[in-house]
Amino acid sequence: MADCIFCKIAQGEIPSTKVYEDDTVLAFRDLDPQAPEHVLIIPKKHIRSVLDFGAEDGALAAHILTEVVPQLARSLGVDGDGFRLVTNTGEDGGQTVGHLHFHLLGGRAFAWPPG
Ligand code: C5P
Repeated sequence: MADCIFCKIAQGEIPSTKVYEDDTVLAFRDLDPQAPEHVLIIPKKHIRSVLDFGAEDGALAAHILTEVVPQLARSLGVDGDGFRLVTNTGEDGGQTVGHLHFHLLGGRAFAWPPG
């Protein structure tokens, strides 16, 4: 999508600090980290939020959750003590970028409930 910042990051038009990349998924460090490890995992194709996953996206969703997240958690070294995986959705969910992204946060303990 032309005016989507995460599409531009996925296409390499805007630089990012990549920590994982394959044909369909990119993970990069959040510019405003909220924890010692704070990575954003995005599909390269434009999907607005989890509400916009289509039937054709099942393999992509499974790939992110069953392969990319565990692999990243291990490579970031947060698999042992734990981490938080969050996808803010819509206005009440606090989503500020309209391209699906999963925050992977680790390296400290998190409170519950979130603010
Ligand atoms: O969940 P939400 O939509 O608010 O998350 C967007 C995230 O994208 C924020 O954590 C923000 O710091 C990050 N961001 C970034 N690089 C950009 C624009 C936003 O890391 N160029």
